[in-house]
Amino acid sequence: MDSGISITAEKLVDVTIKKACHIKIDNQEIIKLVGISSREIAFRVTDSISYWLTSSQNSLLYCKICNKGPFTKKGLYLHLSRLHRQDIKALLEEEIKREVRTAL
Ligand SMILES: [Zn+2]
Repeated sequence: MDSGISITAEKLVDVTIKKACHIKIDNQEIIKLVGISSREIAFRVTDSISYWLTSSQNSLLYCKICNKGPFTKKGLYLHLSRLHRQDIKALLEEEIKREVRTAL
């Protein structure tokens, strides 16, 4: 079960980063990654974690993990993928565990 959570978190890292950078993503993309049965959890955890990753002021984007910025959408996407991939995966794992506990 724990390794399953880790695999799911890994799959959702990119989608979460895209959401955090306000890059449009299709829910179908998430369903393709995790399957129909996990889609509700996947929607919720990617929404809540992406919310904590970035902030925007006057349409400029900042990284909330290290407070760097401002970035363009693409710049922030690259920043998060290169520097914070492991942080984001860990956050996703915690959030998925929380969701799974709540569901039981
Ligand atoms: Zn950062």
